[in-house]
Amino acid sequence: MDKREFLKASGAVVAGTLLTKISRGQTGASDVEKRTNWAGNYTYRAERLDVPPKVDEVKKEILAHARVKALGARHSFNSIADSKEEQISLKKFDGMELDEKSSTVTVGAGVTYGQLAPYLDGRGFAVHNMASLPHISVVGACATGTHGSGNFNGNLSTAVRAMEMVTANGEVMTLSRETLAESFAGTVVGLGALGVITKITLAVEPAFQMTQLVYEDLSFSQLEKNLEEIFASGYSVSLFTDWQKHRATQVWIKQKIVPGADAVVAPNEFYGATAAKRKMHPIADHSAESCTEQMGIPGPWYERLPHFKMNFTPSSGAELQTEYFVPLAKGYEAILAVEELRDQITPHLFITEFRTIAADTLWMSPAYQQDSMAIHFTWKPEWEAVRKVLPQIEEKLAPFGVRPHWAKLFTLKPSAVQGQYARLKDFRAMLGTYDPKGRFRNEFLDTNIFG
Ligand SMILES: Cc1cc2nc3c(=O)[nH]c(=O)nc-3n(C[C@H](O)[C@H](O)[C@H](O)COP(=O)(O)OP(=O)(O)OC[C@H]3O[C@@H](n4cnc5c(N)ncnc54)[C@H](O)[C@@H]3O)c2cc1C
Repeated sequence: MDKREFLKASGAVVAGTLLTKISRGQTGASDVEKRTNWAGNYTYRAERLDVPPKVDEVKKEILAHARVKALGARHSFNSIADSKEEQISLKKFDGMELDEKSSTVTVGAGVTYGQLAPYLDGRGFAVHNMASLPHISVVGACATGTHGSGNFNGNLSTAVRAMEMVTANGEVMTLSRETLAESFAGTVVGLGALGVITKITLAVEPAFQMTQLVYEDLSFSQLEKNLEEIFASGYSVSLFTDWQKHRATQVWIKQKIVPGADAVVAPNEFYGATAAKRKMHPIADHSAESCTEQMGIPGPWYERLPHFKMNFTPSSGAELQTEYFVPLAKGYEAILAVEELRDQITPHLFITEFRTIAADTLWMSPAYQQDSMAIHFTWKPEWEAVRKVLPQIEEKLAPFGVRPHWAKLFTLKPSAVQGQYARLKDFRAMLGTYDPKGRFRNEFLDTNIFG
């Protein structure tokens, strides 16, 4: 099913209503997809989408509307990027400037990791980690605590060193540790709630080469005793499962190597799993063409850290996503708890992925002060069925202090989400100061942060 067929089938778009909305906007958009998120499961309610080219115009748009929200690359699965009135796309903010002396890069808010990575690599630099796909904007990813994997890798937001932001009263501010001291940590995973970010500065490091090895069929029993070692076996490690047969269907190990090293020949066995004989897609019956190189072939960091290549559709395309964070120390117990629901989960599932994320100090990060394991679900586009399974998974994970991914689908009660964030009160107070009239508030924030 292609994207357009999926939009029709999912009932996400009522073309008449949508076209009326677009004609009121200023994009001149004629493509129905532009007013839904990437997956097509969410239709934006905002009546207008503006694409200002300069900071002055961002200011004007903010001051002209009672409710405004910045929109990134549209890859969130819920209403987090929506607004009752106006959305602003920063895609014309596409500048990139490397500062070798301070090992930082400053990019416009429209820049995606797919644009940033070759720019950095060409100059001998890298970011510390990437998500499964490069298609997302740097600002949108950092605003939601987007992550890759790696026991010692913080999420992507942990690389943020400064942000330039237009506030609710049209003021242009620089947010950094120097200007805000400790409260900078409250602004980084900002959920789009503080203002419209126009530029972001990230820490960079010397570029590196990597390989990617894939193993098949790792029994969950191996995780009981060796979970730590398995996730420590590479710079970034992902396990995939369909929840059947008490095993991970695939293990992806991304390893840093010395430049110029030969291809790595995978040992045939890894904790009882066997080396894949060909390139694999995490979803068994999908073509591996869209996946980054495997089979131990060396390549640049940005062509190994993400699972999916830039010029291809990542993941499945027609899909829904959910992800829950639990303490890494309880990872195995949490997996066993979810496994009890395998027969409810598997019929609606493309694939589940387990990843690890190092603890950080960002107030609203799902890995705040906690080394974490993320249990992710790529669902078939069957919302009615998925909606019924989520509360059951959430109940199983409740004893582990579960935190949902801000940008994916969940049904947890707001009080349950809020209870997991020790700095929530401070975050709310910060929003009250930056945005006293609630210009950047939307249904998602009203429910999950203030509800
Ligand atoms: C196929 C697929 C794979 C994914 N893989 C991963 C993964 O590996 N790991 C992971 O953690 N997540 C993953 N995600 C989720 C994704 O990383 C998040 O949804 C991310 O927020 C998307 O960024 P975006 O640029 O599309 O932002 P959007 O979805 O457009 O917006 C997200 C948030 O950022 C805010 N925002 C955007 N731009 C600005 C700005 N200029 N100023 C202020 N706020 C702004 C928005 O208001 C909103 O609150 C995946 C999603 C998809 C569709």
